Amino acid sequence: MPLEMRVIPCLRDNYAYLLHEPQSGRTAVVDVPDQAPILDMLAATGWRLSDILITHHHDDHIGGVPRLREDTGAQVWGAAADAHRLPPLDHALAPGDPVPLGAETGTVIDVPGHTIGHIAFHFPDSRLAFTADSLMALGCGRLFEGTPAQMWDSLTRLMDLPDDTRICSGHDYSKANAAFARSVDPDNPDLEARIAQMARDRDEGAPMAVATLALEKATNPFLRAGQGYLKAGHGKSGETDLAMFAHLRGLKDTF
Ligand code: ZN
Ligand code: FE
Repeated sequence: MPLEMRVIPCLRDNYAYLLHEPQSGRTAVVDVPDQAPILDMLAATGWRLSDILITHHHDDHIGGVPRLREDTGAQVWGAAADAHRLPPLDHALAPGDPVPLGAETGTVIDVPGHTIGHIAFHFPDSRLAFTADSLMALGCGRLFEGTPAQMWDSLTRLMDLPDDTRICSGHDYSKANAAFARSVDPDNPDLEARIAQMARDRDEGAPMAVATLALEKATNPFLRAGQGYLKAGHGKSGETDLAMFAHLRGLKDTF
């Protein structure tokens, strides 16, 4: 049985994700921007929180961890490499480590770039990946700590996941990301179709930060840095995919 998921808007534009494994009853939350909306969703579902999974050290992803842990007694999982700047961890994780959630087991993927200790959680049976501020819906995180090469490596690692994996990112930056994507990749019909669909979803109040990897590959400009036509359009023919990625990331920084 696949994991049940609830997407929880938090703060101004963050998302937390609640995951429930029905056989064992184990329930995890991915990131805790704020504990209140998560406690509300736990009350609404009747699920008992057992695990808190942390993607990276920024306050808008961990701010509610101490209180949520106190209220629920859940175990905290996060990157060992960042233990010095995360809330106290019950499970310090290295890349490739398993994260068991009842009948299903997730895997830790190292995705540095936005921050150095950023990790993603992949649940292959349920076709879910929680990428927070690494790969994002129609975008990728700003490079606060890492290099373009580190982020490009992280993105290519994520691109190796099955195409039907649902990528769950940490924010709704859909409007700004759509405007940027259109500016650098103006003749992409898949991108135009996605932007139109996003506008309909937004009107219905649907969450903006979940899409399949296949759709990201077709529309997310940062995953398209290897496309010849895109390089040509930016005068980068003959340059490496990494150079093209760095070019796009630089454009986004000042967009
Ligand atoms: Zn962040
Ligand atoms: Fe963030």
